[in-house]
Amino acid sequence: MASARILLADDDPAVLESLGWLLEENGYDVVRTTSGAACLAALEERRPDLVLLDILLPDAQGYDLLQRIKADPRWHELPVLMLSALPPEEASVRALGLGAVDFVRKPYRPKELVARVQAHLRHGAMFRATREALQRTETALQRAQEDAESRRKLVDILHEVTGDLSVSELYQLLVGRAARALGVSHCSVILANAGGRTASVVAAVENPKITNLEVSLDRYPELEAALETGQPVLVEDIATHPLYDGVRHVWGLEGTQVNIRSVIALPFTVDRGAYGVFLVRRTRDQDPLGPADLEFAEAVITAAVSVIQRARMVEHTMADNARLEQLAQTDPLTQLLNRRALAENITAEMERALRYDSSLALLMIDLDHFKQVNDTYGHLIGDDVLRDMARLLHDLVRENDLVARYGGEEFVIVLPETDDAGADAFAERVRAAVKGTGFASRPGEEAIALSASIGVATFPAARIDTVEDLFARADAALYRAKADGRDRVRR
Ligand code: GH3
Ligand code: MG
Ligand code: MG
Repeated sequence: MASARILLADDDPAVLESLGWLLEENGYDVVRTTSGAACLAALEERRPDLVLLDILLPDAQGYDLLQRIKADPRWHELPVLMLSALPPEEASVRALGLGAVDFVRKPYRPKELVARVQAHLRHGAMFRATREALQRTETALQRAQEDAESRRKLVDILHEVTGDLSVSELYQLLVGRAARALGVSHCSVILANAGGRTASVVAAVENPKITNLEVSLDRYPELEAALETGQPVLVEDIATHPLYDGVRHVWGLEGTQVNIRSVIALPFTVDRGAYGVFLVRRTRDQDPLGPADLEFAEAVITAAVSVIQRARMVEHTMADNARLEQLAQTDPLTQLLNRRALAENITAEMERALRYDSSLALLMIDLDHFKQVNDTYGHLIGDDVLRDMARLLHDLVRENDLVARYGGEEFVIVLPETDDAGADAFAERVRAAVKGTGFASRPGEEAIALSASIGVATFPAARIDTVEDLFARADAALYRAKADGRDRVRR
């Protein structure tokens, strides 16, 4: 360890000389000054570990000098020993009151003086070490607090995410949260498009209306760079960064004013392959984004990607559910409602009719002699005919009507808000349409001519209380249509 440096200030050259020599003999590095001004200058230049100060200096009272030293935060903790020929009672009390660590009376006793200097140097070193340790602890504590704070913010991001939100709501929430955590005005999620020349902004905190805005990568060099390299891009000032040379030129030609100053573009991968960029920007009136922001943004995006992954999972699950639901309700041959779905819907329709004091009609439609189609043309053509029939019915109904395949070559149509007359008229239109249609046949052969018999029932009606009653009534009417010679409507 380098020897401690002691600054001496005394106007008596004899004292200065003997004292200096004594301290040097004891291994100290000594700086000698004879005035207050020289003492202050040496404090700055030589950075002593201890000061020995005479109370009577020519240009400054030792007390004043002591006060000035102690008032300066740089020297506040520097040990100052006062040296004086003044009577100790008054001098020592005053000096110690002003912050001196000790008072030594002239003429001094060398051994005692050296012992005191040693003690105060040791004390000072210990004090400094303690203070440094304290500072380190404070810094560590502060960093820990900041870490905890950023973790809390990240956890917040994840906590708000629930399966009830749509994917676009999730993105919106994500950019909002990330913008707040990062203290930025602009924050968006951008997904790469196939082909590589464009990308889609799926959420932007600065413009909540955006849910799917296509942008050209030519105009966003940071997006292009991030997507191409897979590495984060940090631009502190887009006015000077070479990445923007080309686009700055374009802005210049167009007279486009760009108020963005800093940009962070963080690429991410979801489900191996779907690439996107998390774009964070600050405007000119805000502090530029720096490496610390990039580090934090990377932590945010890690959390964000798991949110996006969750969003995609939710999206897929919802799509699957919808598909399964659809499958469960549809007849695979004709894509019409199946019998089960019809039963569910018709119950609801009957309840609605009662509640709103309206009526509904049910048509049971059966193709006449359909067995002959199968026998003549085969089952595959028979299937084609059933598909044609489904399309025909589907095209005849209104949006709120239900069309179902009841089984085999039997179809059911439910017409809400339809009375007896309306039902009869509609059934007659269906009968005529079937009669007027040429159904699928073998290629090159004449279309197949068919007819249908239709039984009609309406609700509410006497002795119809349940879905089964309504079906039974329509079925009975259909039976009569068949019995009366087919190709007709009965109620
Ligand atoms: P009717 O005028 O008395 O109704 O005579 P029909 O021949 O239409 O009546 P029937 O109930 O005797 O025969 C219905 C036929 O429909 C029997 C069956 O082979 C055929 N069929 C039922 N489901 C399908 C199907 O999914 N595809 C095909 N190709 N034929 C079907
Ligand atoms: Mg039939
Ligand atoms: Mg039948």
